[in-house]
Amino acid sequence: MSHLQYFRLRISGLVQGVGFRPFVWRVAQQLKIAGEVGNDAQGVFINAYCTRATLDQFIDELKREQPPLAHIESVAIEALHEAMEPPINFHITESKKGVVKPGCVPDAATCDACLEELFDSANRRFRYPFINCTHCGPRISILREIPYDRASTSMSVFEQCSNCLTEYQEPTNRRFHAQPNACVECGPRMWVEKSGGEEIVTDDLFAFISSQLRDGKVVALKGLGGFHLVCDATHQDALTSLRQRKNRPAKPFALMVRDTDIAARYVSLEPEAEALLKSPAAPVVLLQSKGEPLPEAIAPGQNQLGLMLPYTPQHHLLLSAFETPLVMTSGNHSGAPQAIKNDVARATLSEIADFFVMHDREIVNRMDDSVLRYHNGRAFAIRLARGYAPFRVSMPEGFAEAPDLIALGAELKSTLCFIQQDQAILSQHLGDLEDAATFDAYEHTHDLYRNLYQHPSQRYVIDLHPQYLSTQFGESKADRAELTHVQHHHAHMAACMAEAGIARTRRDILGLCFDGTGFGVDETLWGAEALYGGYASVSRVGTLVSFPLVGGVQAIREPWRALVGQLHSAGLLAQFKTLPCFEDKPLRVLEHMISKQLNTPLTSSAGRLFDAVAAALGCSADRISYEGQAAIELEAFAQRATADSAPRYSFALSEQDGLYQLSTKPMWEALLQDLCSQRYTAEQIALGFHDSFADAWVELVEQVAARNPIGAVALSGGVMQNRVLADRLSAQLQRKGFSVLEHQTLPANDAGVSVGQAFVAAAQYLEN
Ligand SMILES: [Zn+2]
Ligand SMILES: [Zn+2]
Ligand SMILES: [Zn+2]
Repeated sequence: MSHLQYFRLRISGLVQGVGFRPFVWRVAQQLKIAGEVGNDAQGVFINAYCTRATLDQFIDELKREQPPLAHIESVAIEALHEAMEPPINFHITESKKGVVKPGCVPDAATCDACLEELFDSANRRFRYPFINCTHCGPRISILREIPYDRASTSMSVFEQCSNCLTEYQEPTNRRFHAQPNACVECGPRMWVEKSGGEEIVTDDLFAFISSQLRDGKVVALKGLGGFHLVCDATHQDALTSLRQRKNRPAKPFALMVRDTDIAARYVSLEPEAEALLKSPAAPVVLLQSKGEPLPEAIAPGQNQLGLMLPYTPQHHLLLSAFETPLVMTSGNHSGAPQAIKNDVARATLSEIADFFVMHDREIVNRMDDSVLRYHNGRAFAIRLARGYAPFRVSMPEGFAEAPDLIALGAELKSTLCFIQQDQAILSQHLGDLEDAATFDAYEHTHDLYRNLYQHPSQRYVIDLHPQYLSTQFGESKADRAELTHVQHHHAHMAACMAEAGIARTRRDILGLCFDGTGFGVDETLWGAEALYGGYASVSRVGTLVSFPLVGGVQAIREPWRALVGQLHSAGLLAQFKTLPCFEDKPLRVLEHMISKQLNTPLTSSAGRLFDAVAAALGCSADRISYEGQAAIELEAFAQRATADSAPRYSFALSEQDGLYQLSTKPMWEALLQDLCSQRYTAEQIALGFHDSFADAWVELVEQVAARNPIGAVALSGGVMQNRVLADRLSAQLQRKGFSVLEHQTLPANDAGVSVGQAFVAAAQYLEN
C-alpha cells in the first residue's frame, strides 16, 4: 500500500556549485513533491514528503536529468518515521556559511542556453563576452579560496547590477548563485591594445581583430585559464612569423574551429570524438588528419591535428567570423608557462603579438588547455588541466582507510595528488619545474588545493630522484618520518592500476613501464622496466640492457647521441660510423667519454632507444626542439607503412638471478643492414622496429609468467603514449591470454606519477 511519508535523501558526488538545488526544486515541482533541499558538509540533502513510488521516480529523474556539471556518485535513502508536520510546498534551504563540503568543480565551456542568448539580439546579454550561468563558465580559474562564493573569486570587484542580482537570488533562475554572473552593465569588459599598451578605439572589437588576423597578424588573446597567441591557420606568413617570434620551430600548434562541421573537413571525426570536442571540458583532441590539407607548418612531421571548439563567449564571438581554423597556442615563450596577468603578457609577449585583446577579470589560477588523443575509438589523456581539474580519481577497493597525504609528482610534467578521506584529487598539469615561473605556480597550486579541500596533511610523498625540485620541495615541507619515497616506475604502474580500480591487496600485477628516465633503486636511470607485485611493493623482473647516455641531458636533446650509446654497447659503432646522422659529429670525443665514463650515466630508457632508432632513420637526429619530438616523428613514420610489408627484428633475451634482460644487439645488426641496403623504406623499418620491440616484451612477459602468476599486465610510462607500440603490445598480450590495463583517463606520462605515488604510499601505510 502506498502512503505519503517523509524520506531523507543524501546525495554525494559533484553536487555543489553546479546548480543542483534549483534543479532538484524543478523536478520536485514537476512531481508535486513537498519538502526541502539544502547543502551541508557531506553534499546535498533532500527531505521529500511523498509515496515510495513517487520517490523512486524522483530519484530516477534526478539521476537522468542532472545538470551538465553535476555528477551524482551515490544516493542514500532513509525513511523518517517520527511524526512531523506534512510540508505544503518544496523549498530551497539557504546553506549556512562554512558547512558546505570543501572542493571546487572544473571550469566549463559556454552552455547551449548561454550561447543562444549570446547571439539573440533581443537578449540583454547580446554579444556580451562574459555571459555564463550555473551550467558553464569559469570556476577554479577565478577562485582564491573556499567557500566558493563571489567574494572568494576574482569577480569580487564587480558588484552585480539589480537585474543580475535578481537572477542570482532567484532559486528557479539558471543564474541562481552563479558566482561569475555578470552583464554589460556591471561585469568585466574587453578591450584591444597595440603592442606597446596603447588602447585602440573600435566599436566592434571582434570585427577589428578578425580583419587583423586575416591580414596575417598575431594576436594575444586573454581567455579563461591564460593567454593564447592566435593567428589564421591558413595564412602561411602568419604561421612562419608566429613560429619565429615564439622560437617554436616545430612543436605542433593547436587549432580552434567554429564547429564540428568545419573540423570534419580536416580530420577523421567519429561520433565519440565529436562528443569529446563538444563536452563541457572542451579539450584539444588530437585527431587523424584527413581531407582538406592545411599548411605543414601547423604540425610538422605529424599525421594528426590538435583541434578544439570555442569554449568561452569570446571565442564564439571571434570564431563566428571564420570558416577556417585559427591557431590557438599558449601565450608564452618556449618553455615558460602561459601568461595569465595583463602586465606579464604585455612584458613577455610584446615581441610576438601585434595586438592584445585584454579583459579585466583576473585569472587567479593558470589552466592550460587539456589535451587528449583520440585513436581507434578510444580517447587517451595526455594533459589534464582546464575543464578536468580538480580531477577526481576513484578510490580502488581497500583504500577507504587511506591516510591524508600529498604526492608531489615528478619534474617535467608535474602534477600534485591529494588523498583525503574518501577521495583522491589530481591537480591540473603544471609543467616543467625547472622553469622558475612554473615552480611558483606549483607552490601556489599546492597551497590552493590545501585550502580548497581543507587538507590537514603533514604527510608527503616524493620521487627517489634527489635532484627533482618536487623531491626537494617535499623535503622542505616535511620531516623525514613523514616523507615517503616512491620509485618512479613503481608510481607509473600504480597509477595505471588505480585507474583500472585494481584492489589494494592484489600482488600479481606485472607493470611494463616504458619511459624517458626515472631514478632506479640501484641509482642508475631506469626507463624500460618490468615490475612485478602491487601497490605496496614490487620487484624488478625485466629490463633493457643498460647503455651509456653520452653527455647526460644533452643526449635527450640530441638523438644521435643516444644512437652512439646504443651502437657502442652493441659493439657496432665502428662498423656504422658512416651513417648519415653521424656526419660532422665528434664521434671520437664521445668514444673517449664512454671509455673514461665521463658524463655518461647508464640507462635502460625506452625513450632513448626510440630516439636512437629515430636518429638512425633520419627523424630529427641532430637536435629536437620539443620533448619527445624524434620518437613522435618515428611513430608517424611507422603509421605510414603497411603492416604486412614490415621487416622483423629479434632481441636477445637472457636471465640472471630472476632478472630478464633484453639486448638490442641483434636488432641493430639487422636494422642497420636493412637501412644501408635500402631493402626496406625507413617507414617500413620504423614499423618493423615498433612491432619487434613489442613482441620481444611479450616474450619476456611469458617467461615471467612461467614462474609467477600474472593477474594483469599494466602498461604505463611516457613511451606508452605511442599508439603503434601500445596497440601492438596490448593485442599480442591479449592474444596470449593476458589481461591488459592501459591508461585512458589518466596520462601515461609523468603527469600521472603523482597519482601512483599517492596510492603506493597509502598502501604502504595501511600494510605496515
Ligand atoms: Zn551557461
Ligand atoms: Zn549586471
Ligand atoms: Zn616517467
